[in-house]
Amino acid sequence: MDVILVVNAGSSSVKFRIFKSDAPGTLRQLISGQVDGIGVRPRLKASGADDQKLVDRSYDATDVPDVETAMRTAGAWLRREQNLHFVAVGHRVVHGGPHYDRPVLVNERVVADLERYVSLAPLHQPNNLAPIRVLLERFPDMPQVACFDTAFHRGHSEVAERYAVPDALYAEGVRRYGFHGLSYEYVAERFGELMPERAGGRTIVAHLGSGASMCAIANGRSVESSMGFTALDGLPMGTRPGQLDPGVVLYLLSEKGMSAGAVQDFLYKECGLKGLSGVSNDVRELLDSAEPRAALALDYFVYRIGLYAGYLAASLGGVDSFVFTAGIGEKSVVLRSRIAEKLAWLGAELDRDANGRGDLRISHPDSRVGMFVVPTNEELMIAKQTVATLTAGGYAGAAVKRTA
Ligand code: ADP
Repeated sequence: MDVILVVNAGSSSVKFRIFKSDAPGTLRQLISGQVDGIGVRPRLKASGADDQKLVDRSYDATDVPDVETAMRTAGAWLRREQNLHFVAVGHRVVHGGPHYDRPVLVNERVVADLERYVSLAPLHQPNNLAPIRVLLERFPDMPQVACFDTAFHRGHSEVAERYAVPDALYAEGVRRYGFHGLSYEYVAERFGELMPERAGGRTIVAHLGSGASMCAIANGRSVESSMGFTALDGLPMGTRPGQLDPGVVLYLLSEKGMSAGAVQDFLYKECGLKGLSGVSNDVRELLDSAEPRAALALDYFVYRIGLYAGYLAASLGGVDSFVFTAGIGEKSVVLRSRIAEKLAWLGAELDRDANGRGDLRISHPDSRVGMFVVPTNEELMIAKQTVATLTAGGYAGAAVKRTA
């Protein structure tokens, strides 16, 4: 069967989804799976459209030591045992640098170009590019599309994009990029379909997962983000601190004698809700904990979301709609309610029953600011962007007609 493969590769796992286009403009998810525990306890798991388990297989650490072999393992299972033929592959790539403002068909030159942004996202970019290289080498004629977490934010104004540093640094790429763009683009589109009368308004979307950020959207386009040069900035996250005075980094380097690598590990893995609570990076565990520092970590999270709501509302000149998405935003009734309290001054009033049910609209009918829950789907966004890019590039036969 001819299908589209979507790949989201991280340091310890390669997640994949299979989509089929039954008719032009439609995409149906057939398989969702991942290889996790790479290099430690590798395991291939996948399930079908109605969640039935298709495979659960463990491997020796030496057989799947890295992202490349994980991609080969998943690819071989999909091709040989599921009998699938990939007509196109869409990849999540965290960084498109200053220039990629839309998805791009990859070739050797594009990969070389994207390698330049490894220094801007050292933990993510190399893992994102590894499967692209494996597939380019093995199937050079198969179209692959890189879809960027930064692209949705590339239309920001210069004042939103700049840091107050000398121009030379800006020219070499030191700027505020913003991330989670695939999620925001999906949510903006979906919100427009579900609430067309609000699509042209001023919207703040809060993507609250283990990584968390917020985005100001005017008329469907990103105008400001809580994240900046890297995915460390903005809101506190599971293990990242969010906004931090750069003086703290100088202190770690000069007073604590930490190396740059040690500071990087510390900021990506030991801070945020985990560092503040000393209990867990998981909001569910913090909600269940009797430890006072767990309560402090949640207070801090809610407080900072409230602060960023003000910051983003200022960038929009007001706000009409506030949308929750990602793990915490979609599932935590309690945190949505606590965050809504912080938005009361903006004119947001929660409908407690609707919030308890997790309805699309969770604000009171009289609320000046509408509050909504819109589940995200970054993989579907990648599949859509892949088809759109190939269609625009004259690959319509490959991506759309052959799958019909
Ligand atoms: P990722 O960024 O890894 O894709 P998700 O969007 O899946 O993350 O969100 C994961 C986070 O969502 C978990 O760390 C957990 O804190 C939170 N979460 C998931 N379900 C719930 C729930 N029912 N209540 C509160 N928090 C939840």
